[in-house]
Amino acid sequence: MIDPFGRPISYLRVSVTDRCDFRCVYCMSEDMTFLPKSEILSLEELDRVCSAFVRLGVRKLRLTGGEPLVRRNIMSLVRSLGRHRDTGALDELTLTTNGSQLEKYAAELKDAGMRRINVSLDTLDPEKFTEITRWGKLDKVLAGLDAAKRAGLEVKINAVALKGVNDGEFDRMIGWCGDEGFDLTLIEVMPMGEIGAGARIDQYLPLSMVRAAVQKNWTLDETDYKTGGPARYYNVRETGRRLGLITPMTHNFCESCNRVRLTCTGTLYMCLGQHDSADLRGAVRASESDLPLDTAIAEAIARKPKGHDFIIDRRHAQSAVTRHMSVTGG
Ligand code: SAM
Ligand code: SF4
Repeated sequence: MIDPFGRPISYLRVSVTDRCDFRCVYCMSEDMTFLPKSEILSLEELDRVCSAFVRLGVRKLRLTGGEPLVRRNIMSLVRSLGRHRDTGALDELTLTTNGSQLEKYAAELKDAGMRRINVSLDTLDPEKFTEITRWGKLDKVLAGLDAAKRAGLEVKINAVALKGVNDGEFDRMIGWCGDEGFDLTLIEVMPMGEIGAGARIDQYLPLSMVRAAVQKNWTLDETDYKTGGPARYYNVRETGRRLGLITPMTHNFCESCNRVRLTCTGTLYMCLGQHDSADLRGAVRASESDLPLDTAIAEAIARKPKGHDFIIDRRHAQSAVTRHMSVTGG
């Protein structure tokens, strides 16, 4: 699959549910309305769509959400998709999780063939953690991380940089990740979904400033390491771990975009920051043959836009895209 700008599409992110057991302030409002079950693809339908993408050239699949590990029976999908890794059709099957259910699932994920996972954690302060996630408990996530380590999963921590919330903590987090053997990626907050007036401008913290601040205490060596994601990586000389920076707001990462995103209703978004989408649920449910699905996917890829145009300032105080990040899974 090659898009109109010559970019090969090799990475599919799949939001397997819009539901979550947290309500992170930058991601959801407290009183979210979730989708009725009839609109959601069954696990078998999700498997069919993912398998079509693998057949058409996707080499990396990431399950996300909402919180992927709160979807009932999620392990049956993970196990079944694992067959594409076994045949070599897929290089990587992985997951982004808030860690709340990891204690229960870490060993099973490893057993099903996952090697690396991303765990979102914005702070190591228990009170701040509950402030950010509204419903989350830090202890539970730390226990989950322990279980992941014991199971032999490689862990990358993702932290959203939030002005006035965790901006004093990055030095500590770099040190902690070094001690634990985790890589760390910092992400700029993106204008996705309505979360309350003014909130976005108050949260936004450019990572160029964060990098300058952490360089006072840590030596960051540039690398050309790539995971197929949009992060730029540095080696932290003192810890031997990587530090990734994802800067959608200060640096346009669209040129090398290799991914598309599927929601749990079977809607395919060709760009995180644009509205255009394709309905793959109709194609899956229309026929037992995969032909309509393959055609719908090809048509969608032919419409992939050049890039997004996120702007956060007072004139553009509204979200660039009204859907929440939990719809497309980040
Ligand atoms: N629930 C899982 C989790 O939190 O890891 C997976 C889904 S979550 C939507 C995926 C990632 O998106 C998380 O790392 C989260 O911090 C990030 N995210 C959510 N809203 C965001 C926003 N407005 N800007 C930047 N990152 C955001
Ligand atoms: Fe849930 Fe992840 Fe969104 Fe937080 S960022 S509310 S954990 S989906």
